[in-house]
Amino acid sequence: MHRNEWIPTVCYQCKAECAILARVEDGVVKEVKGNPLARGKMCVKGMAGVTTLYSAERLKYPLKRVGERGEGRFERITWDEALDIMEKKLRELRERGEAHTFTYSMFPHSTTDPKWRFVNAAGGFISTGLPHCDSAKIMAHLHTFGCFPNHHIAPMYYTVPKGGLMILSGRHPFGCLDDACVPRDILNAKARGAKLVVIDPIFRSEAAKADWWIPIKPGGDAALFLGVCHYLLTNDLYDKAFCEKWVRPGDMDNLMAFIADKTPEKMSRICEVPAADIVRLAKMCAEAKSVCIDAFKSIMYGNAMDWGHVWSILLVITGNLDNPGGQPLPEIAPMAPVTPVPPAPNLKELGYHRTGPDKNRFDHYNFILEPTWYAAQAVKDGTLKVFFASECNPALSEMGSGEWRKAMTMRDEKGDYKLELFVVTEIMPSETMKWADLVLPDQTNFERWELLYMPWWYNYGHTAALCRPVIEPLHETRHANRVMIELGKRMFPEYFAFKDDLEYYDIELSGVGMSVEKLMDGGGLWSPGTAGFRKYEDAGKFNTASGKIELEWRMYADIGQQWPSPELPLEFRRGEKEFPFILVNFRTIFLNNTGAWSQNNAQLRDPVSGLDANPVVINPIDAKRLGIAEGDMVTVASSTGEVRLPVALSQRIKPGCAGLIHGFGQTMGKVAARGNWAGDNELIADAGSHLDEQDLRGGEAHVATRVNIHK
Ligand code: SF4
Repeated sequence: MHRNEWIPTVCYQCKAECAILARVEDGVVKEVKGNPLARGKMCVKGMAGVTTLYSAERLKYPLKRVGERGEGRFERITWDEALDIMEKKLRELRERGEAHTFTYSMFPHSTTDPKWRFVNAAGGFISTGLPHCDSAKIMAHLHTFGCFPNHHIAPMYYTVPKGGLMILSGRHPFGCLDDACVPRDILNAKARGAKLVVIDPIFRSEAAKADWWIPIKPGGDAALFLGVCHYLLTNDLYDKAFCEKWVRPGDMDNLMAFIADKTPEKMSRICEVPAADIVRLAKMCAEAKSVCIDAFKSIMYGNAMDWGHVWSILLVITGNLDNPGGQPLPEIAPMAPVTPVPPAPNLKELGYHRTGPDKNRFDHYNFILEPTWYAAQAVKDGTLKVFFASECNPALSEMGSGEWRKAMTMRDEKGDYKLELFVVTEIMPSETMKWADLVLPDQTNFERWELLYMPWWYNYGHTAALCRPVIEPLHETRHANRVMIELGKRMFPEYFAFKDDLEYYDIELSGVGMSVEKLMDGGGLWSPGTAGFRKYEDAGKFNTASGKIELEWRMYADIGQQWPSPELPLEFRRGEKEFPFILVNFRTIFLNNTGAWSQNNAQLRDPVSGLDANPVVINPIDAKRLGIAEGDMVTVASSTGEVRLPVALSQRIKPGCAGLIHGFGQTMGKVAARGNWAGDNELIADAGSHLDEQDLRGGEAHVATRVNIHK
């Protein structure tokens, strides 16, 4: 019988996980589109997901390394053999009292992830599968108004009123990593009379649509916005009534004292935005019906906590918390625990981060998930012995990726690899699998069950989404969640007493009165419908210790961090002579090589996309000074590495900056391993080389560094 139907599921070509519909004809996925129940849209990456599903390059069965790590030589094994290898090594680790030297690096899409449960049962650490990205923003918002913000996902642009102001600061929502609805929602808001300001050293698609592009010195955002706050506060242009009612007593006075010398003129000298423009931006904020801010690259430099803190302060003094067009403060609807709950490792005892020359300094920065780059440090100092990785690609996407690759091949005094077992799950060949001992073939979003519970992702209009198989799984693939449940049943049957992943998700969903079946009946989506606005008014308080907004971070007074510093990241403030350019990386809509998403997708690398090279982009003013012409091959060198690349000239980058698309450099797979490209992470220092500089000023300067350029 001919069957042709649209089935709701979730896109997974990037971590935005948009709700989609897949058209399936006689067991074959023919096309995909956004799910209208979630105001759905799809981007080009999402549409190319069908190409990954049916790619001849897919990993089809489990593989075991036969050569040395890094050679990329494997032999086929069975699933039983693969599970035996993992079980044996993890049992051995536990018997040695070293359970905590196991890490699973995964992208934490969902609190419902059974892999997370397995790590807890095994006594290991969970790692983010990425650097910390915008965790500084999360920590800053938590410290200031006690709320888990929209992680990565932008403010609710569809609520921005006429006269509202949208500020994108180092943020490229038209390029990637966002709900595919966001670009449309921003443009719709503009069409109804909101303004868009883009602050960025590089002019991308967002700037082309903006009312105003402000080219800024990378890392200057904290200074720029302190100048804005100075103008608002000293000219009585802030929301006094809101601050009087909601800010903790004493904080406004102390803020006034702190801000007194952060004049636009003074801040201008740091961020290189003219003082008159800082004043103009401040006036726009004062006059706007609402203000929302979103940042991504700019919150990934080494002064991220300062910028996150200023960002929080600006939202507060303009009264833009949980209002239409401002910063949403989501509520969290609790899923039911699957009992008995396995004990997580004691992070207070073991530390939130297992390594680094002075790891105790991170006590203030205790984001509970380790960034993946700690793995390299931990292997070096012997505190990581078993490493599993899903949906991440540290050999390519980590700062100092060369150092990471080296760590994977380090040997102990007996000549054995220091990292005793490295397991990677992948859909397509990845750079990271070259160093793996076991490669497990994963399933695409068209073949697997997965409950995605994202309590803070209100942008979608849903909170839980169900990824469901729309066709029979291909080859011998198994989803990583199912593999970990199977391993859990072998090793920790008390914690894995449920039948399978579906029963596990059913138990979790019962906490909000839902089930997998009910979710399917509802089009694969569920929301508690509590997004609302100004929820703190109903509650009569914010979720902070004082119940008020805490502008001053008094708990950090002892280390002098109760107020944000305007200074650029330390890394940008030195070596200017030898390395005169600041490297800024950016992404394209076509590609996202940081996870198992779009790597080796032929549709995203066809000649039309023009991505057979990633030239270094510099301003013609700089090129003239250096005697460099368009298309010249140049060496781009940092203090830790160098690459050869062609040059592209553009006035759309601030002089003194060098732009490079992130995500190139792969040598595995027919599609990825072609073209004239190099990875930006070859230039960025390994985390271990500057861990001692990373404190409250922001964690990792992991997307930028100083470089020089010569022929
Ligand atoms: S934004 Fe990401 S999840 Fe959404 S359609 Fe595009 S690739 Fe898919």
